[in-house]
Amino acid sequence: MSHRFFIPPNWITPPTVTLQGDVARQLRTVLRMQPGHTIIVLDNSGREWQVKLTEIGKSTAQGEIVSEEQVESEPKLHLTLYQGTLKAQKFEWVLQKGTELGVSGFVPLICQRSVVRDSAALTKKEERWQRIIREAAEQAGRGKLPHLEPALPFDQAMRHAYATPLRVMLWEEALAPGLKTALVKTNRIALFVGPEGGFTAEEAATAQQMSFKVVKLGPRILRAETAGLAATAAIMYELGEWE
Ligand code: SAH
Repeated sequence: MSHRFFIPPNWITPPTVTLQGDVARQLRTVLRMQPGHTIIVLDNSGREWQVKLTEIGKSTAQGEIVSEEQVESEPKLHLTLYQGTLKAQKFEWVLQKGTELGVSGFVPLICQRSVVRDSAALTKKEERWQRIIREAAEQAGRGKLPHLEPALPFDQAMRHAYATPLRVMLWEEALAPGLKTALVKTNRIALFVGPEGGFTAEEAATAQQMSFKVVKLGPRILRAETAGLAATAAIMYELGEWE
């Protein structure tokens, strides 16, 4: 698969495409690409353009559009992962793997037991997190970038998710398994996963009151960074995204 780059829409000016800044530098110094090589550019609309490079300069590059098409790799299922905040590497791992698995949106969740809870500090990470998501989406061949919402306290996140038809909370103390029965045919799911210390019984009760499906993923205690991804994979499989 050709190298893929999400770029600002205004760089795509049919019949040519102009590449600037980091992308141009990456083409030249990292990928050592030559005129005649082809790349794929995306404007995050779900469409992609195959581009034949014609010029590669130090900080800009030019190409000719060869073809344009709709990207077929986006899941029909719009899954938003509300992930309890985790220590840096773990959280970044969830962003990368969630993007590969087809997550459409990430919401960092500040729970009662969240160790990482300062939203100003979390905001400072946003640029780095956006880059991790973009690079994962390019590598995975996604057609659209998963969006990254600002961190939300638990109660606000519950309200934020309320319009989503199917809302699932992963809780290792849930009485019933329930993921499979919870997965009615839908194309929008909100999936809540706790922080390292887990959700409190109070948070689980609140979710139940707000008609979340509170489900257990078997008897083994998964790390938070495992649980959200395992559930996402199971949901993608069950709802036919891997057919
Ligand atoms: N309370 C746990 C730690 C929580 S695990 C302990 O005693 O170690 C972190 C998060 O992963 C939980 O909040 C939950 O969302 C999810 N999780 C882990 N194992 C799970 C399971 N078996 N079923 C459902 N959710 C699980």
